[in-house]
Amino acid sequence: MADATNIVWLRQDLRLSDNPALAKACERGGRIVVIYVLDDEAFGDRKPGAAQRWWLHHSLAALADALRRRGGQLVLRRGRAAPILEDLVARTQAKAVYWNRCYDQESIARDRTIKRDLAEAGLEVESFSALLLAEPWEARNKEGQHFKVFSAFWRSFLRNCQVAPPLPAPAKLTPVPGLSGDRLEDWELTPRNPDWAAPFGESWTPGEAGAKQALDRFLEGGLASYKQARDRPDRQATSRLSPHLRFGEISPREIWQAVHDRLGVAGASQAGADKFLAELGWREFSYSLLFHEADLARRPLRREFERFPWQPDPTALRAWQRGRTGFPIVDAGMRELWACGWMHNRVRMIAASFLVKDLLIPWQEGEAWFWDTLVDADPANNTASWQWVAGCGADAAPYFRIFNPVLQGERFDPEGAYVRRWVPELSDLPNKVIHKPWEASEADLEKAGVRLGGNYPERLVDHGLARLRALEAFETLKKERAA
Ligand code: FAD
Repeated sequence: MADATNIVWLRQDLRLSDNPALAKACERGGRIVVIYVLDDEAFGDRKPGAAQRWWLHHSLAALADALRRRGGQLVLRRGRAAPILEDLVARTQAKAVYWNRCYDQESIARDRTIKRDLAEAGLEVESFSALLLAEPWEARNKEGQHFKVFSAFWRSFLRNCQVAPPLPAPAKLTPVPGLSGDRLEDWELTPRNPDWAAPFGESWTPGEAGAKQALDRFLEGGLASYKQARDRPDRQATSRLSPHLRFGEISPREIWQAVHDRLGVAGASQAGADKFLAELGWREFSYSLLFHEADLARRPLRREFERFPWQPDPTALRAWQRGRTGFPIVDAGMRELWACGWMHNRVRMIAASFLVKDLLIPWQEGEAWFWDTLVDADPANNTASWQWVAGCGADAAPYFRIFNPVLQGERFDPEGAYVRRWVPELSDLPNKVIHKPWEASEADLEKAGVRLGGNYPERLVDHGLARLRALEAFETLKKERAA
């Protein structure tokens, strides 16, 4: 096979390490074409959001560089994947096409057709597992069905699933000479006029090397205290690996192995490791839902929520998106999202709960905003998490459990450091009112330079009343079901 050409089609796996499709092509020997296809059409109305596109640009640039350093080349093409792959096969006389699997319904349907057509044309076509710790169909309950409850899913996973050791990156690649592709700059993935993503570079280093750095930093300084500190948005206590995982710049198997290796080091915490791996477990669980449930982004898993009396309100939605709800912890989160393309998990839960329960705005609106603005916007995690918060998902937080944004803020940002960072107009308020400026005295407000309804908005709602309204709305659903 030394003179054969093999194609590796990259999608959610923009890395060289633990990349089974790439490893297989190398094992087969010969020349290798590594291709990434920007196939917006394939996603219908679920095109990658604006923040993801920024990430994708930088991730592809890093990958092209890494391939070049090993003698290889990244070929970029824009359009429908099927004809592009066919054309590439014809031009290079390739004998094999390999890729790592995606698990959303659109990608599965597309890949199935492509696999069939290429195989009929006489090519060797093989797909591999690289996105998850285990395939989403592996964990099954006693009835042979996929799990709807996380704790049972994770117990079964830990008992039955073997996580394979990661594969090394290839040392050297032989490209096909003279093969041209698109210029990354011509895809215009990054914003201009205005370049709202300019500050993203301060928070992130997209690419495989950046992912490894983030993992090392976390293992060194975060894992041991993860269990206690992970809910604190005022600290850098989580791994911030989510966008790297989203684009497959690091494999969950590499993380799994690194965490287990770390347990052998002095000062390691089993509790921290267990909790952190369970979060990776939520990712596995979300992907299992994405794989098994059609239309996860649009339809509530608990179908009765299709009749929930939502109250769409474009003005309130806009205020939420801009971080101007009048609730400091919600506004801080929404502004962190805008500035960094990321938000702390605890604050995602608070901000999402506020949208769907205090404002009664459909969760799909929030999901769509996160989809556009998160660098880690993930087809499984985003959708499953929104359904979870809205109470309509698998193993969801019950609808009647409604986050109080003031108490949540006081508990998880006790000195108000997070709010002060992202809502600077409140920074001089005393701790006791930083999460509820409407209770501040005139003197405190004046001293801090805060004008409610002026430089900081009045509350959109009274949380106590909004809570009752949400519970009433939920009651109508229950009554309908009983009737
Ligand atoms: P860590 O705490 O270090 O966790 C490690 C990894 O575990 C994460 O990188 C992520 O891949 C996974 N993980 C952690 N929590 C969850 C979870 N609840 N569900 C699924 N996987 C999890 N995560 C995304 O990756 N993409 C999204 O689009 C996304 N949207 C969300 C929307 C809402 C409304 C909520 C409440 C949560 C969402 N999450 C999403 C889950 C979670 O907030 C992020 O994964 C986490 O904040 C990322 O930060 P980290 O990498 O530092 O996490």
